[in-house]
Amino acid sequence: MNTSKQVKVGVIGVGHLGQHHVKHFASLPGADLQGIYDLDTTRANKIAKQHKTKFFNNVNDLLSICDAISIVTPTTQHAEVAEYCIKHGKHVFIEKPIAKTVAEADHLLSLTKKNGIVIQVGHIERLNPALLALKDFELRPKFIEVQRLAPYTVRGTEVPVVLDLMIHDIDIILSLVNSPVKNIRASGVSIMTNSVDIANARIRFENGTVANLTSSRIAQIKVRKLKFFQRDMYVTIDFLLGLTEVYRAIDSDTKVSNTLVTAPLDNNGRHRSIVYEKPPVKKIDALRLELTNFIESIQGNAKPIVDGEAGRDALEVATNIQKMIIEDIH
Ligand code: NAD
Repeated sequence: MNTSKQVKVGVIGVGHLGQHHVKHFASLPGADLQGIYDLDTTRANKIAKQHKTKFFNNVNDLLSICDAISIVTPTTQHAEVAEYCIKHGKHVFIEKPIAKTVAEADHLLSLTKKNGIVIQVGHIERLNPALLALKDFELRPKFIEVQRLAPYTVRGTEVPVVLDLMIHDIDIILSLVNSPVKNIRASGVSIMTNSVDIANARIRFENGTVANLTSSRIAQIKVRKLKFFQRDMYVTIDFLLGLTEVYRAIDSDTKVSNTLVTAPLDNNGRHRSIVYEKPPVKKIDALRLELTNFIESIQGNAKPIVDGEAGRDALEVATNIQKMIIEDIH
């Protein structure tokens, strides 16, 4: 529509994360929050009061006055709720993962294509300022190592850890590596739930890149770290601290203002130095940025940074990893 007209938006599911969607939509200039819906009416009432919006007992009443809906229900409900919204002609922001199966995701994508609807998926780490800090670097990772650990909580355990935590890293890796997946090796264990709580996967891409991912929902403290190596460059990102560090090998006679890490050394017949830099990480709220991107995409002024296809592709890799873990266990 290419306009700055406010988008009338509603939120379905106002639990732990949904309340933050409500908070942002209540104050985003491009959004006109119409209200919220949740099966838990006590919770919906409380969140509506907090953010001075309405809660609806009937989802159709909310849909009838909205252009767009943010779906923040548990993952098992994403496909059903999204299908209902899309069939009512609403643009949808679906929290990650897009759905619990690839078949569900494909069905949603086919519906949005038919209806010309914006579909965006909440892979929020793609908008983490620590990752965005690398936008001026040419990234061609050859080896990626990533760890995502979290203390145990019941929330999210309706799906295996691969679909809850590892999928964040799968999405980031697919966005960094511009090549199809060649093969996957994976294993995992159940510790607290009847599903997989700790998982490790190694993804090899057609271009030779290898990614090694570990996710666990049984940990003392949260860890979200990604490292990658490419020709003459080593990058480490701490998503929690918002810290990005880059080490680069350059010719020793190159003039730079960066800190030298080593004395010049001879490497591959060249006189080289290793320099360290800390690209500035902006203090921005990734959820606010993500929801702004959704509103601007509906207005026709942007494209979703994580669109439905990207959400579907991350889910496909995640479900393949999960399948492999189950085969490995049995
Ligand atoms: P939650 O259990 O705290 O909240 C879910 C809410 O949805 C509850 O209030 C529940 O009553 C409501 N609900 C359930 N089924 C519903 C239905 N059919 N219609 C309306 N309301 C319904 O869960 P959460 O931790 O907020 O997670 C919600 C989603 O957000 C999950 O898909 C999760 O994967 C995702 N999530 C994403 C991130 C992220 O980093 N992007 C972080 C946390 C959660």
